Amino acid sequence: MAFHDELSRVAVIGGGTMGNGIAQVFAQAGCDVTLIDPVAEARERAEASIGKNLARLQKKEVLSAADAEAALARVSYAAELQAAEGVQLAVEAVPENGDLKKKIHSELDRLVTSDGILASNTSSISITEIAAVTNRPESFIGLHFMNPVPIMKLVEVIRGHSTSDATCQATLDVSRRLGKVPVEVNDYPGFVSNRILMPLLNEAMYCVMEGVATAEAVDEVMKLGMAHPMGPLTLSDFIGLDVCLNIMEVLHTGLGDPKYRPCPLLRRMVAAGCLGRKTGKGFYDYE
Ligand code: NAD
Repeated sequence: MAFHDELSRVAVIGGGTMGNGIAQVFAQAGCDVTLIDPVAEARERAEASIGKNLARLQKKEVLSAADAEAALARVSYAAELQAAEGVQLAVEAVPENGDLKKKIHSELDRLVTSDGILASNTSSISITEIAAVTNRPESFIGLHFMNPVPIMKLVEVIRGHSTSDATCQATLDVSRRLGKVPVEVNDYPGFVSNRILMPLLNEAMYCVMEGVATAEAVDEVMKLGMAHPMGPLTLSDFIGLDVCLNIMEVLHTGLGDPKYRPCPLLRRMVAAGCLGRKTGKGFYDYE
């Protein structure tokens, strides 16, 4: 049987913004999911969020009551990584920190079945580098979901330098089983999504810094003129300006082209602690 057909046990490591959505979509696709997060509050928030999302789908008649209940029952919660023992697929969604991700994957390497797959939801860290700390770089892949996971169709499937064709094919098939549309890309800084999105947001910030237009005006141009559902500065505030700066640094360092230099205004706002929605202040005020 193909990997995606026989996939029944999955671990999701990190139950934050992305992890709880990832756990939900696997549970809806019929997999038993162990959501692992050492922070009790994060586990509680994840459980509440999955419950709320499934209830909403049931109310909208996207899911039957029985299916929503079954999906909810398929997710279990654990504090220790050891709970990933014997799963066929581990999807890691811990904070964007290379050392933390490497440590977790070197441990997952011992826990996941020998023919299983290790995946990272990283937005910008090299898949090849994380894979290199494991004894199975051929079975390591990037599985980059978009936020909010249950709603967004795209999954960027990122092939590391050593990822095998079999691993890539299995991951594309698993993504389709989740109802997603996978797009295969190679491991270069920012992959495709952030390589294109972040310079666009950065350029919008330059427009504000240079006084070309106000944040409101830049957003209006892109919404009404380019049919973007959200203006670039609203989107930057939503993503978090610290996250935007971090990804611009990855592009700048990794590709070495000055066209990726982070906008000085972005640096200044991050230094001032104005990170967007999450701190109540960014290009807009949320207080
Ligand atoms: P988050 O901060 O919301 O959640 C991270 C979770 O990981 C937290 O609940 C934290 O308690 C947990 N965690 C910390 N250390 C852990 C450990 N040792 N073991 C298990 N869990 C641990 O972060 P997020 O926004 O969900 O991002 C997770 C990953 O997904 C990052 O790599 C990020 O770049 C990527 N990503 C984020 C978005 C987004 O829009 N937020 C989109 C695509 C990809």
